[in-house]
Amino acid sequence: MKTAMNIANHQLRLFGTLEFDEVLQAVYGVCEELWSPPAMGLLIWDADLEVFSDTLFFGPKGASLEPLTEIFAGRLERHMDLSGPAAGVIESTRDQIEKFPGDLAPLYYLRIQEGEALTAIILLAGIGEQQPAELEESLKPYSLFLALNNAWEVRELKRENERLRSRYDDLELTNSNLEEQTRKLIRDVEVKDALRYRRMEKEKVLFEISSAVRSSLEIQQVLEMACQNLGRRPFEVSRALILRVLAGSDLFVYEHHDGQTQPVRDRFFSEAGRQFVEVVLSKTAPCELSERDETLIAGFDPDFLQSFGFMSALLVPIIMREKTIGAIFLQDCKFPRQTWSIDDLTYFGALADQLSVAIENADLHEEKKQQAVTDGLTGIANRRHFNEVFAKEFERARRYAEPLSLAVFDLDYLKKINDTYGHSAGDDAIKAIARVLSNSSRSIDLPARYGGEEFCLLLPNTLLEESVLIAERIRKIINETGIEGPGQISASIGVANFPLHGSDPDDLFNRADEALYAAKQGGRNRVCVYDLPEGNPESVAK
Ligand code: GH3
Ligand code: MG
Repeated sequence: MKTAMNIANHQLRLFGTLEFDEVLQAVYGVCEELWSPPAMGLLIWDADLEVFSDTLFFGPKGASLEPLTEIFAGRLERHMDLSGPAAGVIESTRDQIEKFPGDLAPLYYLRIQEGEALTAIILLAGIGEQQPAELEESLKPYSLFLALNNAWEVRELKRENERLRSRYDDLELTNSNLEEQTRKLIRDVEVKDALRYRRMEKEKVLFEISSAVRSSLEIQQVLEMACQNLGRRPFEVSRALILRVLAGSDLFVYEHHDGQTQPVRDRFFSEAGRQFVEVVLSKTAPCELSERDETLIAGFDPDFLQSFGFMSALLVPIIMREKTIGAIFLQDCKFPRQTWSIDDLTYFGALADQLSVAIENADLHEEKKQQAVTDGLTGIANRRHFNEVFAKEFERARRYAEPLSLAVFDLDYLKKINDTYGHSAGDDAIKAIARVLSNSSRSIDLPARYGGEEFCLLLPNTLLEESVLIAERIRKIINETGIEGPGQISASIGVANFPLHGSDPDDLFNRADEALYAAKQGGRNRVCVYDLPEGNPESVAK
C-alpha cells in the first residue's frame, strides 16, 4: 500500500546510501512494492557515452527478459527519443516475441528522466494490463531520478577517484621502476669500473713480473715474487702455486695462500705429490681441475686433488722449448667457478710464457756462470775459481784463527801414459782423478784442476793431521782406480797447512808444491807434508 510512511521508508533506502548497487536494489524495492513484477529489468543510461552502462534483472522470471532486453537496449541506444511519453508498451516483432514468454506480456518501459536527462529505463513484465501513464504516475513520489542521478554521480566520482589512484599507482610504479633502473645503471657502472680496475691490476702484475724477468737473473726471487702476485686480489684465488721441475727431477714449489687456507707446499714432496707432478709434466695446455668433472681431472689422482679442498682450480703448464718444466697452479676454495674465462686462460698463458723466459734466462746465466768457474775436461772447479776461493778461505781462516789445509796432487807418469796409450788415455786418467776428488771430498772442501795434470784440494777448517789422512785416503782410491789402457794409475800429493806452513795463499801453495816435489822425489804414489821445524819437506805417509 502506497502510504506516506512507505514512501518515506523507500526514500530513506534510496537516499540513505551512496552505494550505487544499494540504490538499484532500492529502486527494485519500490517497483516490487508497487507491482510485484515477476520480471523486471533496470537499464542504467550513461549520458556521456550514450550507452546503457548496467543492465540488471529482478524478480523470479527476471532472467527471461535478458534476450529481449539486449535487442531493445541496442535499438534504444541508436534512436533515443526522450521527448515522447516516458512510459509505454514495447512493441515486439514476432521474432522477438518468440524469445519472450507470452505469460509475461505485455512488456512496459518506464523512463526515469527529467526533461531531456535520462538516468534509467525500467522494464516491467508479467504485471498484466496497465495504463502506462499510471505506471509513470505511481513512481513520481519516490524521486527515482534524483536518487539514481546522485548515486550515479557518486559512483562516477568514486570511479574517477579510483582511476586517479590507479594512475597515481602507475606513476609511482614507473617512478620506482625508474629508480630501480637508475640504481641498476649505477651498479652496472660500478661493476664495469671494478672490472676495469681488476684488468688494470692484472696488467700491472704482468708488467711487474715481466720487468722482474728482464732485470733479475735470480730465478728463485722472480718465481717467489710471481707467486706472491698471483695470490693478490685481482685473481681472487685461495692459493697460488708455482711448480718448477729441474732437470734432475728436483722440484721447487712456491706458494702463496690466503688467511683462510692452509699451506700445501709439503704435499708435493710426498709419493702422491711426485705422481701429480709427473702428470703435470705431461700436460701441454691449461687444465681446469674441477672435482665434479671427471674428464678434466683425467690422469690426476682424484684423492690427491680432493686433499686440497678446492672448489675449482686451474693448472697452466710452463713450457720451455716444447717441454713442460712446471706449472702455475691456482686454487679457489671459496667458489666453484663454472669456467675460467678465455681472458683468464690467455692471461695466465702469457704469464706462464714470461716465467718460462725467466727460467730459461736464469738457466743460461747459471750455465755461463758454471762455465766460467769449471774446468771443461773434468767438470770440477778451474784454476781461476780455485784461486778466488782459496784467497777468501785463507782470509777467513786467518780472521777466525781456524786451520786451513791444502793438498796438491800430480798424476804420476802421465807423459808415459800419453806416449804409450795415447792422449785420450791420458785424459781419462785426468778425469779419473777429478772424479775421485769430487766423490771423496766433503761438502766444505773444494777440489779443482789447477793445471794440466795438477789438482788441488782445499780443506777449510782442517788440521794438518786430518788433511794428511784425507789425502792418504784419496791417494789409495786413485791408486785403486783402473782405467782402460794403463790400468792402474797413481798420484803424488803434497800437503801444507795454515797456520803451520804459510802466512799467505802463495806461501801455502808453494809449501804444498814443495811437499809434492818431495813426494815425486820419494818415489811417487805417496803423500808428503811440508815439514817446517826441520825446514825440509818430509814424507809422512805412504
Ligand atoms: P811425473 O810422474 O813426474 O809427474 O811424470 P809426468 O809424465 O806425469 O810429468 P811430466 O811433467 O813429465 O809430463 C806431464 C805431461 O802431461 C806432459 C803433458 O803433455 C801432459 N799433459 C798435460 N796436460 C794434459 C792433458 O790435459 N791431457 C793429457 N792427455 N796430457 C796432458
Ligand atoms: Mg805428472
